[in-house]
Amino acid sequence: MKPIADRMSRLGMETAFEVLARAKALEAQGKEVIHMEIGEPDFDTPNYIKQAAKDALDQGFTHYTASSGIMEVRQTIADYIAETRAIPVKAENVVVVPGGKPIMFYVITSLVNPGDEVIYPNPGFPIYESMINFMGGVAVPLPLREELEFSFDIKEFKSLVTPKTKLIIINSPGNPCGGVMTKTDVEAVAEMALKYDCWVLSDEIYSRILYEGEHFSITQLPGMQERTIILDGFSKTYAMTGWRLGYGVMNTELAGWTTKLMNNSNSCTSAFTQIAGAAALKGDQTESANMVAEFRCRRDVLVDGLNQIPGISCRRPHGAFYVFPNVKGLGKSTKEIADLLLYEAGIATLSGTAFGKYGEGYLRFSYATSMENIRKALVRIREVVAKLR
Ligand code: PLP
Repeated sequence: MKPIADRMSRLGMETAFEVLARAKALEAQGKEVIHMEIGEPDFDTPNYIKQAAKDALDQGFTHYTASSGIMEVRQTIADYIAETRAIPVKAENVVVVPGGKPIMFYVITSLVNPGDEVIYPNPGFPIYESMINFMGGVAVPLPLREELEFSFDIKEFKSLVTPKTKLIIINSPGNPCGGVMTKTDVEAVAEMALKYDCWVLSDEIYSRILYEGEHFSITQLPGMQERTIILDGFSKTYAMTGWRLGYGVMNTELAGWTTKLMNNSNSCTSAFTQIAGAAALKGDQTESANMVAEFRCRRDVLVDGLNQIPGISCRRPHGAFYVFPNVKGLGKSTKEIADLLLYEAGIATLSGTAFGKYGEGYLRFSYATSMENIRKALVRIREVVAKLR
């Protein structure tokens, strides 16, 4: 048979799903596994959102919608973004898609020609690099530095921007390190984007999972909204990972192309899910706030516990629900350590290299699991580490 298209060999993967599959295989053999690999809240979707979905089904939201989403839902999202980012947003700027991830796919497909340079955070969400390579772009990693609380060095960033830079991807609060960009970092990105006429993809999916200060979006800086795509969604804030609901906010020209890609791929996002999403934004936000409060307590227990284990040092992240401890003192590759933790201690975790080459020397633990599991995991990590030293 004739071969698969060349571009397929350039496609990467989100390793969390592979590790999840391996952990599930162990569970099927009767082994107990603590899941700290996958980035999804362990809480259930709040009841008022589930009820809105059930009502929507009863009201007949069981058909196709416009490819860009239901107009009222787009308006609700536009109002939410306008309020939370203090910028003017219209329904036409919003494209509703099945999750936050498809926005990466559509935006990078729409913007990146072969040879175009794209700057992206490394360690960072693996799909950025995958999609840049898939489109034939040149992936330019921007190292996130532990000593800078997992932000980047501004001088280094500026040295990476060239006339060929088409797109700069930022993610704050960030996965996998939990770093939060300072206003000065955001201003540096805006300065270079304006100077070199670049687009910016601002992945703000963790904007509500922030432990200090207020979220600051690059779209709030002069001249930036027109060239920025905000990626956001419902998976993390409302514990709706399995619903597949997210959106992009962008200028109307790019919204048109994104809609065309939606039309070519999904036709539209599930109708009753969209209605539930609008209800999520309009309803009582207490449960979301409570989840964040609980995440903060877990973060502190996990960070303090890891810092007491010889050979491990862990920064206290300011956002998202991940820690990214430095395990260089253990003298093994992080892939080996992650395997040991899975097969000897029943703890599913990810090697930092699952997020790019600058992740070597680190592990990523998601603390979207119960406090009881976190405490149990700490005991087991200590035991495995003791055998290594
Ligand atoms: N962006 C970042 C940084 C993420 O960590 C994730 C999910 O882990 C996503 C986007 C995708 O979210 P969704 O599940 O809504 O597609």
